[in-house]
Amino acid sequence: MKIQMKTPLVEMDGDEMTRILWKSIKELLIEPYVDLRTVYFDLGLPNRDGTDDAVTVESALATKKYGVAVKCATITPNAQRMEEYHLKQMWKSPNGTIRRILDGTVFRAPILAKGIRPYIPTWKKPIVLARHAYGDVYSAVDAVTAGEKVYLVGEDGTGRETFRCLVHDFKGESGVVQGMHNTDASVRSFAEACFRYALEAGLPVIFAAKDTIAKTYDGRFREIVGEVYETYRPAFEARGLWYLYTLIDDAVARIIRSEGGILWACKNYDGDVMSDMVATAYGSLGMMTSVLVSPDGKYEYEAAHGTVTRHYYRHLKGEETSTNSVATIFAWTGALKKRGELDGIAELVAFAERLERATVSAIEDGKLTGDLIPLWDGDAAPEKLDTFAFLREVSRRL
Ligand code: NAP
Ligand code: MG
Repeated sequence: MKIQMKTPLVEMDGDEMTRILWKSIKELLIEPYVDLRTVYFDLGLPNRDGTDDAVTVESALATKKYGVAVKCATITPNAQRMEEYHLKQMWKSPNGTIRRILDGTVFRAPILAKGIRPYIPTWKKPIVLARHAYGDVYSAVDAVTAGEKVYLVGEDGTGRETFRCLVHDFKGESGVVQGMHNTDASVRSFAEACFRYALEAGLPVIFAAKDTIAKTYDGRFREIVGEVYETYRPAFEARGLWYLYTLIDDAVARIIRSEGGILWACKNYDGDVMSDMVATAYGSLGMMTSVLVSPDGKYEYEAAHGTVTRHYYRHLKGEETSTNSVATIFAWTGALKKRGELDGIAELVAFAERLERATVSAIEDGKLTGDLIPLWDGDAAPEKLDTFAFLREVSRRL
């Protein structure tokens, strides 16, 4: 008998090569074993365009309602996609829309397998990177000056001036200025999400900023994250875990020297840059998962990579592809496990873990997609499988 679910998962379908993986993963690896219940939203670009992007908002609201979602990679349109798909508008990034509605923090974690060598050989355990996905330079305003004196001015609700700082007196010289912000509430919910995730995963936490330079701005981040930690300290200490605030430069040095097994909490820009470094250093984007966690405990699981457009065009021409489906499989297992935990269905959790082991064991025995071949350092002779042969290999082991 198939494993029964109680609450449905929110399923967000996507685009291109990952849409193809999505269907095969469900058919081959999940539906034969689980009586899969989902609330389905088609976030493929044609349907986002057809619904004036309402489907994206609906899927995020459904995630708020049901609590756990699994998302396929989606195209974020640019000028070239406008032409390719004859779009009505250059719709915003679905991930951005979902993140705004859930007010979440994104955690990225690599999937490790024996035989896949990270570029940094001392990294034995995963480094989970948490990016504060609100504010700073991502919602900054900027301007070109023509030599003015530029001030930062605060006004209260009645229009009374509350502070005035000189940014720079350009004295007739041209240049650029930028104004950015963050809110205490957003930093606090970021800190909450990080400590909660770290406790669940049994990881210590490093948070880094540059408060020696940005004394007030980054100083505020340091203060708030430190305050939030005090509420978690007893639980951390009881489990032998710790929290460290350090300067971003020092954090980079510590991470490189570490053996992993750390949650690295980053400000928005640091997280944007460092997540690409961490993903690359572990090997392949196809082995990096991502989960968005909201402050009120809603979860959205996905692969960290995009829709793998180049492989999709080859697939459409009938050529063979060797696309790595591991991160997308782990998006499904992450969501099924969380659903099982929340609904108290032990078999569902056990099934998801079995599927993860089947996937990793295929890799550990040298059954690889093309992206992993150059990284192979295992004992077995590596065998390159195409996209579907890899999925069949996992299915056989399952
Ligand atoms: P991408 O889809 O991540 O692919 C970039 C390259 O990385 C691929 O061409 C491929 O290299 C390699 N790669 C990534 N994932 C792989 C996998 N699973 N297996 C094997 N190789 C993999 O990024 P992109 O080409 O910049 O973006 C394509 C589309 O995805 C864009 O429309 C973008 O908007 C969207 N996107 C969506 C998300 C999301 O939904 N979360 C995230 C990022 C990008 P080779 O071609 O050399 O094999
Ligand atoms: Mg980036």
